[in-house]
Formats: sequence, C-alpha cells, structure tokens
Amino acid sequence: MVSCSICGSKEATVIAVIEGVSLEVCDECAKLGRISKRIKEKTKVVRKVAQVKPEVEETVVLDFAKKIREVREKNKMTQEEFAKALNEKLSVMRHVENGTLVPSLKLARKIEEKFGIKLVEEQGEVSGDIIPHEKVEAATLGDLIEIKRRKK
Ligand SMILES: [Zn+2]
Repeated sequence: MVSCSICGSKEATVIAVIEGVSLEVCDECAKLGRISKRIKEKTKVVRKVAQVKPEVEETVVLDFAKKIREVREKNKMTQEEFAKALNEKLSVMRHVENGTLVPSLKLARKIEEKFGIKLVEEQGEVSGDIIPHEKVEAATLGDLIEIKRRKK
C-alpha cells in the first residue's frame, strides 16, 4: 500500500492536487485540495514477462514443391491421384508442385500426415539466410486471388 503523503498514516486512495502539487493522499487529506484521480484499488502490477518468448512462427518449408513432387513420385501417383488423396483441387496441387503457390499450413500438415514428410517448420527468430516468407508469397498473390475467385 501507498501511504498518504500528508498524514502518512492512512492509505493513499486518491491523487489530489494540493496547493498546486499532485500528491497521493488519503480521502481525508484529499479534502485539502482537489482530487484529480482515484488510485485504482490494488493496482495490479502486470509485470511484463521479462523473458520474452520468441514468437514461434510455423511456416511451410521453402523447398515444399520439390518435397511434394518427390513424395508423390515415390508413391507412384499422378498429380490427380495425389490431389484426390488429399481432397484438394488438382489445380491447387499443380500450383503447389510448381512452387507458384505456397500451401496453407493446413494443407501442408495434411500432406505431412498422409505421406510422412516434413513440410512445416517452426521458425523462431528469422536468421539471415532464410528468405522471408513474404517474398515467396508475393509471387503467388495473383494465383491466390485467382483460386479464391474460382471457388466462388
Ligand atoms: Zn492523509
């Protein structure tokens, strides 16, 4: 508790301007001046977690296209069969294999589960040599819009 700046015995409950000075005082002493602000009861000190957890971002690996193509060929599947197995549109899978469309995390996970390959990686701090994901996505924005439109 913060004790009153004037009497020093009671708990300061308000901030009052007394003779031009802003003081933390009790209700009684506040009468000497003008209350400017009520001190919030038990101000919870929301302490910022000192150890800031690096935000773990899940991203699709950059060589997803190659990996997906490889696993499909390993399974002796056509693109169509592969798309069907994943319940995805052939056009989507074609774009993904061409590397012109970054699969969504959901799709990447699905492929991971079904075919036992690793497509999603957790990225903490992005290190210098990793190409920012946006760059990959930027190139595919047109495709994404196209696909979205087609769905409608
Ligand atoms: Zn007081």
